[in-house]
Amino acid sequence: MPPLHERPSPNFDARPPGQAVDILLLHYTGMRDAETALARLCDPQAKVSAHYCIDEDGTVTRLVSEAARAWHAGVALWAGASDINARSIGIELINPGHEFGYRAFPDGQIAALIALCRDILSRHAIPPARVLGHSDVAPLRKEDPGELFPWARLAAAGIGLWPEAPPEVPVPAPAEIKRRLAAFGYGYLEEDFGAVVRAFHRHFRPETLTAKADGETTARLDALLAMAGRLD
Ligand SMILES: [Zn+2]
Repeated sequence: MPPLHERPSPNFDARPPGQAVDILLLHYTGMRDAETALARLCDPQAKVSAHYCIDEDGTVTRLVSEAARAWHAGVALWAGASDINARSIGIELINPGHEFGYRAFPDGQIAALIALCRDILSRHAIPPARVLGHSDVAPLRKEDPGELFPWARLAAAGIGLWPEAPPEVPVPAPAEIKRRLAAFGYGYLEEDFGAVVRAFHRHFRPETLTAKADGETTARLDALLAMAGRLD
């Protein structure tokens, strides 16, 4: 583990009694620079936080104890659950984001993230299929950590799932694609199916950010469901 800096944020409350942590949620800060982002994550007026924040040079700052509920997910859904903060650990990555100049995550930042994630996964029973981005649980509102985030590198390090380019399969009817996306965990399928498909692409097929599911979308989704043990 890289050394931890401490910068306590007041923006947390208690997890519900007996609630296990079973989601690891990754974000980018989407602010102009690191100090602005850290100040906001500690500002009592902002009412936002995360458990950890990782700067582009790999510096890891702990803001909130893992035992507490940090406020990072907002209005969100995954696998039918809406209080994602209650059951997750949130990590913010310093990056200006789509609003202020989205750029690649440097190697040192990702190396620190991988070390931190391994440490977290050694202490909490978080299934690989529940290592997610903010855009997965809030596909109508959020784009982070975004299409430049190296999900395949994390999966190669044992963190999360990655569908290695499977052969294309015939595209089922939209209702069947919705069923499979819901089986993996996605919500908001009736509110905005296209936005959910785009969120799926942003995570699992980042070279194609369309809102339309095709044969490769289906193949990747099926591969993920099989890896998660949920293909029927
Ligand atoms: Zn976020």
